[in-house]
Amino acid sequence: MKYNRIYNFNAGPAALPLSVLEEAKESFLNFAGTGMSITEISHRSKPFDEIINDAVARTKRLLRLDESYNVLFLQGGASLQFAMVPMNCLPDGKSADYVETGTWSTKAIKEAQVLGKNINIVASSKDKNFSYIPYDAKYNAESVYVHITSNNTIKGTQWSEFPDTKGVPIVADMSSDIMSRPFDPKPFGIIYAGAQKNIGPAGVCMVIIREDMLKLVPDNLPSMLKYTTFSSSNSLYNTPPCFSIYIIQLVLKWLEETIGGLDKIEVINKEKAKLLYDIFDSGNFYKGTATPDSRSLMNITFRLPSEELEGKFIQEATKNGLGGLKGHRSVGGCRASIYNATTLEGVKALTDFMKIFEQNNG
Ligand SMILES: *Cc1c(COP(=O)(O)O)cnc(C)c1O
Repeated sequence: MKYNRIYNFNAGPAALPLSVLEEAKESFLNFAGTGMSITEISHRSKPFDEIINDAVARTKRLLRLDESYNVLFLQGGASLQFAMVPMNCLPDGKSADYVETGTWSTKAIKEAQVLGKNINIVASSKDKNFSYIPYDAKYNAESVYVHITSNNTIKGTQWSEFPDTKGVPIVADMSSDIMSRPFDPKPFGIIYAGAQKNIGPAGVCMVIIREDMLKLVPDNLPSMLKYTTFSSSNSLYNTPPCFSIYIIQLVLKWLEETIGGLDKIEVINKEKAKLLYDIFDSGNFYKGTATPDSRSLMNITFRLPSEELEGKFIQEATKNGLGGLKGHRSVGGCRASIYNATTLEGVKALTDFMKIFEQNNG
């Protein structure tokens, strides 16, 4: 392949569109005729203003957000949002609902508890090793928000439909599936996503926050931990991660102009995932770990008949130019992360390899 690149199934940081990397390569030496690298220009300059404003505008168009939503670029990863959400938006004396669906939601719950916040774990799929989404959860009408993880990167599950919380704002960690499919944003008060899975490189977290949630932010928080600091400064209170924001802008441009938006990418994402799930459903060698109604279109987790075969599978796949197929260190097994930038061609190469491996080892 071009530049000797492999088919990359890493969970995050993950594959980026080749055209984005090529454009970034040019900009790394001389960005848009400025005579400076994209990493050398001021965050207070006109060229950077255009980058960040374009990234915000594209986010709003792609997700069909109305003017009540602010798009912010923060540091500290999605992990800092586990704390910032309750610090900013869960007043003392009030409570919030949390749905526990895997490693990341467990961490979000822990951070809220560390802060001494009052939270209800309204549903959990821990009883079956987080292999399903608890669609039948009941939510409390008096809660300030309901926190969910839209896609569980490690366990390979995803909300196929978002819950009806009867008007209570949903706060969603969409780190591993933002921009992978269209959805109605209206029920959402906050959406946050570490960029390094589906929209860019590491170092920046996109936070989409609605005006009513901003009204909950208390005065007595450090500036850097307050949403309003960033909403009132277009994410330019201090030096933002300029390069990461630039790559996000290019990825969103690719998504809008080359792919044609979220309706289009969803079709491609479904087609890619189906190729893999069809293998699990038509044989016994590869076994998917997620229950069918909760299967992720982004992270496909599976097991082989033995750990020994899994080791051999990952090793031989790597030799064949298929990388990043090892499951998360906490769960073992195999995982193919097939985010937006992973091509259909790449997934076909993987499924072809899987069929041959089964023939030789089944
Ligand atoms: C990767 C991931 C995180 C952690 O993101 P960081 O940016 O590393 O803090 C949180 N939630 C989900 C769903 C993830 O996939």
